[in-house]
Amino acid sequence: MKSKFFTSEKIMDNVTMIAGLAGELCYLVEGKEKALLVDGLSGVGSLKAFVRELTDLPTELVLTHSHPDHMGAAFEYGKCYIHPDDISGLYEAGDAERRYAFAAAGAKEFTLRMGDAVPCVPVRTLPVGDGHVFDLGGTQLEVIAVPGHTWGHIVLLDRSARVVYSGDAVNCNTLLFLGGTSIEQYRESLTHLELRGGLRRLMGRSRGRQRAQAHRDGGHRALQGDHVGDGPEGAGGFHGPQRPLRPGEGRSLPPL
Ligand SMILES: [Zn+2]
Repeated sequence: MKSKFFTSEKIMDNVTMIAGLAGELCYLVEGKEKALLVDGLSGVGSLKAFVRELTDLPTELVLTHSHPDHMGAAFEYGKCYIHPDDISGLYEAGDAERRYAFAAAGAKEFTLRMGDAVPCVPVRTLPVGDGHVFDLGGTQLEVIAVPGHTWGHIVLLDRSARVVYSGDAVNCNTLLFLGGTSIEQYRESLTHLELRGGLRRLMGRSRGRQRAQAHRDGGHRALQGDHVGDGPEGAGGFHGPQRPLRPGEGRSLPPL
């Protein structure tokens, strides 16, 4: 399905990938009872209305982290699941001008108007952390904390499908920021996330789906988003001071 602002592609029986104008991606995962939208693009154009055309299921939004190319739909839904360490970033980096600039940089076929950007409004934030499980009815997504790209970055694991929705936590060009986690702390996060070769797909944020790369991972075919730079999101200085990892954030997961 295609609209002025979004393009969707069904990539699994119950998963639709949605791309925004700048190539940023989010994923609509449908269970038998409800759907979960993993990330909310930049908030230029109505993603909520677009999703309504894709599913009749009640849909909730979870953000992998609070960068402008992931958070936009939070201001439309008015409610989102997010790690507590990234809640402040929702407002510090969520201004419409910044999100508009991100989308406008990728809009080739027409000129955007500032009014296309969803305004930054108060959002009801529902905190989630390591171990939280979204039960969609027949499909479960497990939250894994992976601090690094931001302090509150989470990924979502569909253990039965062996798929991880990774946001910007793991991709071809994951960025760490000054004032954020150290490289050593990020390494601990990756140890925590380590899935020991049982992964089929790693779905992240990509600037262009055509840049997605298929590669071999532990004998399984994996699809990894090609993160090719952060555009306006990297310029905000919205990352908090360093802190030690909390108990549990460095533990390895059991094998799939
Ligand atoms: Zn990011």
